[in-house]
Amino acid sequence: MALKLPVYLDNNATTPMDPRVLDEMLPYFSEKFGNAASKTHSFGWEAEEAVDIAREQVAALVGAHPQEIIFTSGATEAVNLAVKGVCDNVAGSDHHIITVVTEHKAVLDTCKHIEKTGGNVTYLPVKPNGLISLKELESAITENTILIAVMYANNETGVIQPIREIAAIARKYGILFLSDATQAVGKIPVNVQMDSIDLMAFSAHKLYGPKGVGALYVRKKNPSVTLTAQIDGGGHERNMRSGTLNVPGIVGFGKACEICSNEMAADSKRLSKLRNAFEVELLVLNDISINGEDIPRLPHATNISFGYVDGEKMIFEAGSDIAFSRSSACTSATLEPSYVLKAMGISDEAIHHSFRFSFGRFTTEDQTNHAIKVISKIVKEHRHERDHGHHQIV
Ligand SMILES: *Cc1c(COP(=O)(O)O)cnc(C)c1O
Repeated sequence: MALKLPVYLDNNATTPMDPRVLDEMLPYFSEKFGNAASKTHSFGWEAEEAVDIAREQVAALVGAHPQEIIFTSGATEAVNLAVKGVCDNVAGSDHHIITVVTEHKAVLDTCKHIEKTGGNVTYLPVKPNGLISLKELESAITENTILIAVMYANNETGVIQPIREIAAIARKYGILFLSDATQAVGKIPVNVQMDSIDLMAFSAHKLYGPKGVGALYVRKKNPSVTLTAQIDGGGHERNMRSGTLNVPGIVGFGKACEICSNEMAADSKRLSKLRNAFEVELLVLNDISINGEDIPRLPHATNISFGYVDGEKMIFEAGSDIAFSRSSACTSATLEPSYVLKAMGISDEAIHHSFRFSFGRFTTEDQTNHAIKVISKIVKEHRHERDHGHHQIV
């Protein structure tokens, strides 16, 4: 059977929606159109009931109480609400936040905003394996520290931070702990109770749900976290996030979380097999290194540096066969090497031939084999050209 090309290996950027999620959402675009805040008729009650069920499904996936889930437009908004909401809730403006250089821009840019408004932010470095040092974390704490923000798993490398140890340090000093768990929730077991997380951001479109909906987990007990709302009007979501609820999106998010609760373990087992086979087959080419190897990382993703390969050319040549991502972001005309890999001490040159491949629920073995074949061929060709190539005029 012919493969439909290109093969999608960029599930860390976004996941395709599970068809079961779409089925669940469809009625809420048409006959079940009610506003969940309408209290006087069945249209509203029906929508409210659907949101309640979704809130339970989302909460169950992460071990939270449904009342601790605040629906937002995605993880970016959830992070903004958490960071700004915590700062605004504490008197004064000389707040101190500790975060990490390899965080997603949602966290880094929100922290920059806090700096502009008088706050101080410590950006912890990472070791070559991508992990923070717990000692450095503890010594960065000051009497003004009100928040520690460390992501659960990195979007570029899949590296998983020592969340429970970080939480223990935060607890010891009575500091709130926020984790951007957008890449982890629905992929590996995440439990806000066992992990002692106070605030946690995640998003539907990274776990086979729709785009434009996400959540902030806000702990209600031990401690009870209070936030200042960043969007006012109407007092929805326990006064923390006003605005008419995105009922179809929330219903889809709920269904997606329910499916993850049931299928995550089997999915991750299958995907780690595909990912490992992919790595093993490519490693035989030599001069290949896996960024973040040998430490806990997400089971479905890999970040690989291919020595002696022209990164630009590889994307171009593989593009019709595989959709994957380069560890560099195009900013206008220039290629900025990934700040995540840079922080791990990887050279600009190596970053330019580093790529992220992320597998997902709908990735098949045939697709994986095709990707291995295509990448191997390109790598061999580049190296052959380099060794036997055209004379270069210098
Ligand atoms: C995708 C992603 C985000 C942003 O999520 P949105 O829902 O698209 O706003 C934030 N953090 C991480 C780690 C991500 O991977």
